[in-house]
Amino acid sequence: MAVLNTASTRWLSGLAALLFVTGPVMAQTSPRWAIAIHGGAGVIERERLSAQQEHAYRQSLQKVITAGAEQLAAGASALDVVEAAVGLLEDDPLFNAGRGAVFTAEGRNELDASVMDGRTLQAGAVAGVRYTRHPVSLARRVMEQSPHVLLMGEGADAFSREQQLEQVAPAWFYTEARWNSLLDFLRSRELPLPQKPAGVDECKGDCTSSLIHLEGKYGTVGVVVLDTAGNLAAGTSTGGTTGKRWGRVGDSPIIGAGTYASNNSCAVSATGTGEYFIRLSVAKEICSLVEHRGMSLQQATDDVVQRQLTAMGGDGGVIAVSPKGELAWSFNTSGMYRARAAAGQAIEVGIFKDDP
Ligand code: ASP
Repeated sequence: MAVLNTASTRWLSGLAALLFVTGPVMAQTSPRWAIAIHGGAGVIERERLSAQQEHAYRQSLQKVITAGAEQLAAGASALDVVEAAVGLLEDDPLFNAGRGAVFTAEGRNELDASVMDGRTLQAGAVAGVRYTRHPVSLARRVMEQSPHVLLMGEGADAFSREQQLEQVAPAWFYTEARWNSLLDFLRSRELPLPQKPAGVDECKGDCTSSLIHLEGKYGTVGVVVLDTAGNLAAGTSTGGTTGKRWGRVGDSPIIGAGTYASNNSCAVSATGTGEYFIRLSVAKEICSLVEHRGMSLQQATDDVVQRQLTAMGGDGGVIAVSPKGELAWSFNTSGMYRARAAAGQAIEVGIFKDDP
């Protein structure tokens, strides 16, 4: 072992003193943890959202971001917080994921989800699953309990049962508003109308409400997190697009398109017209701009969403977080359900473009 001479010992103790001094200063500028969530982007205009609806969305976003912030402050891992927060949004019928998912043209819910671990670059995803209450948890099991990244359809449902994840009847995902959105969609295209899923009760109360006028065909959910250990993670979950056919799969379960996380650059979750997000590899493209072009997180999200996506004719948005705890969002639609929080900073909840 090399013996340190007095000069190098002095140099090393000087360096230690410097680190001791700069440590707390850095901690002040970089939050110890950070989280952002989205509940979909689309045509969401103030005058078309009733005060009651707006309140319900804001309350739900506030509840989920607060739960995530509390878990992070208590030291939970980025992956656990992503899974828990996406799981809460999946259970909320307001959003197009899990319960409240949009229907295919055949009147079914076919759910897509993905997660990525920024520390290891491991990822898991599922497409077109029908019976798993929390598709995000199934995506995580694919990552952690299988040698694969993406499972689809019946095979993914079988894996879900093997993993003993909670199974639900298709009626669990059913909401009257999404069903009416499907009927509007099918009638406008003169396509046949399917039967309601088995086990769905006759409608009581408001049986004509439709969400399609509020948010187009969107409403996907996603979460990005930096935890106190310095790790990033991202997750996304969706029912896809209203009236989808032929086994259509969007960007949400495609790693690099709808979801990406790397501790070297950023974590991203996207929402919007999936076909464009796949073609631009939106989530990975943002992280590559940060890592290789030295862009700030906000510059990179704006470059991809406001410039590249818009030029191609795609619409939607993203949320992102960096290893330093910077948070960014960018969307080219009139609204995106969104919220963010970081250590020592106030929670922000937004819906419309001009929300702070
Ligand atoms: N990106 C989703 C998809 O194309 C839809 C959405 O975000 O609303 O399946």
